[in-house]
Amino acid sequence: MRLLLFLLLMGVAWAEVSTQQEVALGRQAAQKIEAESGIDNSPELNRRLQTIGQSLARVCGRNDLQFQFKVLATDEFNAMALPGGFVYATRSLMRGMSDGEIAFVLGHEITHVVQRHSIKQMENEQMRKVGLLAVLVGLSGGRVNQQSAQLAGLVDQVLDSRFSQADESEADRLGTAMMARAGYDPAFALVALRTLAGRHNSETPAFVNAMLGTHPLPLERITDSYSYIPPLAYSAGANVAVVPSVPSRVRPLLERLTQAVVQSTGWRQDPTLMSSCRGQLDNMNLDREGFLLVSPAGEPDNSLERRLLTQEVAQRLLRGGVSRFGLALRAGAEGERLVWLKVR
Ligand SMILES: [Zn+2]
Repeated sequence: MRLLLFLLLMGVAWAEVSTQQEVALGRQAAQKIEAESGIDNSPELNRRLQTIGQSLARVCGRNDLQFQFKVLATDEFNAMALPGGFVYATRSLMRGMSDGEIAFVLGHEITHVVQRHSIKQMENEQMRKVGLLAVLVGLSGGRVNQQSAQLAGLVDQVLDSRFSQADESEADRLGTAMMARAGYDPAFALVALRTLAGRHNSETPAFVNAMLGTHPLPLERITDSYSYIPPLAYSAGANVAVVPSVPSRVRPLLERLTQAVVQSTGWRQDPTLMSSCRGQLDNMNLDREGFLLVSPAGEPDNSLERRLLTQEVAQRLLRGGVSRFGLALRAGAEGERLVWLKVR
């Protein structure tokens, strides 16, 4: 400590923020966020968040941090991470996304922490100013109260800083690779990005440096995912629990599933198109008892489309208590995509 102060007094450029300082600063910002939004302690949302978050934290590559995940009690659809590993998802986001989508959002947020995006900004700008550096030195030494005004300024800077487009792209790409390492199908990155693009709120959001900011999600973030998702290998491990089949649940499940797939993929059920397409099932050698969904235009990448849909359907079925299903994907006569699904 004495050496650091000495270096500061000597005007030696000191641009590195230590992990201890990073955590101390993040904790201050976390207290502010939690005081403003409140924490939702409902067991179901927290259990999901912890399971997904910790499985990502284990493979994120920063063992010097203890990541913590909390649900913010706000109806804003958003997520954010603070330096030091304080990660938040709002209860609205937790309720509105599947596990795979949440894994992408958390992977993205954790990547901001792992890559020290906020800290790098500070190191490049304000942190070079001796006054702010001294605050951080005091902060890591526990003398917070004496410099509370400057500290508040630093915390505000963390909360108000805006990630660059390059940082956001890196968080998408590395976050998707992280979810794949943790056993989540990276195809869910695409589902999540679409969901986020649809949830943009033009009103000023509660957090500036969050998953969704004041600007719409740039469409390049969706199209970029076509290039980095397909090469990623992954193996579904402990994250998917196989539940014994319960046939009586199948009918209502199919209805819920239809809604879920429509919501998460953006595909639609067009009754006219569906009835005309049903006739094509015979040519496809498929069982007429299946459930049929039609998309006017599929994904440009066929293999990605199949994985995306298969995994989306599989997760929802398994959660609903069905462990076996058949799924087929065909191009219709007019170029539309037909999805046939049968639950066993
Ligand atoms: Zn981001």
